[in-house]
Amino acid sequence: MLDLFSIFSKGGIVLWCFQSTSDIFSPSVNALIRSVILQERSGNNTFNHNSLTLQYKLDNEFELVFVVAYQRILQLSYVDKFLNDVHLEFRDKYKNELQGGRHIMDFDFKTAFDEVLRKCENWAKSQAKIPKQMRTFEDSQKSKKTVASMIERKGEEKGKKSVKIVENKSLTNGKVEESPEPEDDVIAANRAKLAQKLASKGKKEPKKSPKSPKVVDRVKQPRVWELGGGSRDLPSLDFSTDKPGDADNNVTPDTELVGKMAGAIRDLEVESEESSSEEEEEYNATPSPKKSGGMFSIFKGLVGSKALSEETMRPVLDKLRDHLIGKNVAADIANKLCDSVSIKLEGKVLGTFDSVAKTVKATLTESLVQILSPKRRVDILRDCMHAKQEGRPYVMAFCGVNGVGKSTNLAKICFWLIENDMSVLIAACDTFRAGAVEQLRTHTRHLNALHPPTRHAGRNMVHLYEKGYGKDAAGIAMEAIRYASDSKIDVVLIDTAGRMQDNEPLMRALAKLIKVNEPDMVLFVGEALVGNEAVDQLVKFNQALADHSSSTNPHVIDGIVLTKFDTIDDKVGAAISMTYITGQPIVFVGTGQTYTDLKALNANAVVHALMK
Ligand code: GDP
Repeated sequence: MLDLFSIFSKGGIVLWCFQSTSDIFSPSVNALIRSVILQERSGNNTFNHNSLTLQYKLDNEFELVFVVAYQRILQLSYVDKFLNDVHLEFRDKYKNELQGGRHIMDFDFKTAFDEVLRKCENWAKSQAKIPKQMRTFEDSQKSKKTVASMIERKGEEKGKKSVKIVENKSLTNGKVEESPEPEDDVIAANRAKLAQKLASKGKKEPKKSPKSPKVVDRVKQPRVWELGGGSRDLPSLDFSTDKPGDADNNVTPDTELVGKMAGAIRDLEVESEESSSEEEEEYNATPSPKKSGGMFSIFKGLVGSKALSEETMRPVLDKLRDHLIGKNVAADIANKLCDSVSIKLEGKVLGTFDSVAKTVKATLTESLVQILSPKRRVDILRDCMHAKQEGRPYVMAFCGVNGVGKSTNLAKICFWLIENDMSVLIAACDTFRAGAVEQLRTHTRHLNALHPPTRHAGRNMVHLYEKGYGKDAAGIAMEAIRYASDSKIDVVLIDTAGRMQDNEPLMRALAKLIKVNEPDMVLFVGEALVGNEAVDQLVKFNQALADHSSSTNPHVIDGIVLTKFDTIDDKVGAAISMTYITGQPIVFVGTGQTYTDLKALNANAVVHALMK
């Protein structure tokens, strides 16, 4: 029944292994190590890869990993117990050797392993014979529901399946698992968030949303670009004096901006006042007459002297989870992160002066930095140069829901590219929203005024490829790329129509655009304001790109543009949720409404703001 059982050290030495067939399992075990264990995603002990399910257990005292693999279609009820029992058996049997750090030896474990397996299989059979007990109310799903989640709302689709997040690797392969039970709490929280956002939209300070938001139906209004009448919400990129269609009217460029974005994009700075001193205070065991608030102060007294257990860590982890959720990390992700820390630390023996809280916090901080640090090099300017040498344009496609800042941030990225002497063709593939093409036309005119041909050896730096409305976006993108190629334009930026993640026809159209045009980079544009909603959007965009691409290796999201970062204070959690879900880097951060308000993510600064 089991295909593989392997015990290896975290350093990578295989101590013992049982394989019923051959080593075709290595890729799955490698994927588990790469995508889960090394990337701090071990919150859940199950990982699906190809046709296999892998379950694992960490032994943090001896730094070991126990992995069992079996065919995904099998339902093996004893695997959790089996993993635990094998773990205990192995520890008991080889305690002395493991304590002496003797990892390289012949562990004769087969007989004991078979015996544990036989016992567990018998246990599973005996369990199957016991008639099912009725669940108590406390065990039931209902007891976990909040009052808000039980309120039925008009138009709500009953029995709608909700999408459960699966780990990064399987996601990028386009496999998202569906859970049959709607996660009412999450839906209610999403609705509340959206209501808050809508309610605060018209106000000056969007972060100060009303305390008890009204629940509204999730209908996003198409944004109407105010032509000629002045754009209320774009003060700095405001082209209200421009008359639509009058491409030649004079633009007075804000020449102060020119030259500020040359070179690589500057790192994001997150304010970090009263940082380290307060932190020190939180961990200071001697009572201080000064104010000593902070989320960890109540755990000051917990000084470890024995192995950490789930139970000892639980209060700290609960506090941390709430703290992360308060900073806008999606609830599901916050849970997973805390579970991952617990798994990573369980069994670890603390030094006499290490407090539980300090150790847990340090481990979580480390995991967060790890999650936010790009796993691969992202150097767009270099990639553009590379494409140029190959005699083709570098192509980036922007996707996301309506109003998140796709066009504005596309224009900022365009500004950065032309500041670095790259000529750009903007492909107006939002053939849906009234005013979308005019908005890009205005940006094009403005950008060309900032960087006139005289600055670039007579080259016109920004061009717009537009074909009006109602046409096939994939076709326009294709023509634009061809045009850029023929005209020796360096970069093509494809603006796509905003779409809700549940809109199947539009998601299908986006998958088609990406499939037929194969951009070098597919960027998902998302607002930093969102919490749980960010996860839903990303999971569904990725899923749709995979499902509708009809390719064995679908092109899903390669990177993220996190917008409106200037409006969130220190509630930087969306950055974590988005990278956790996709495993893809945040390539750009939008920090305002001028062309220079574009930054690169600084993982340490964001984590610092998050843990403050
Ligand atoms: P699209 O529908 O996704 O193309 O969104 P738009 O580009 O039209 O932007 C919607 C609104 O968000 C506009 O008012 C923009 O000025 C604003 N916006 C975009 N990016 C940022 C940002 O980084 N910070 C702030 N404060 N506002 C932004």
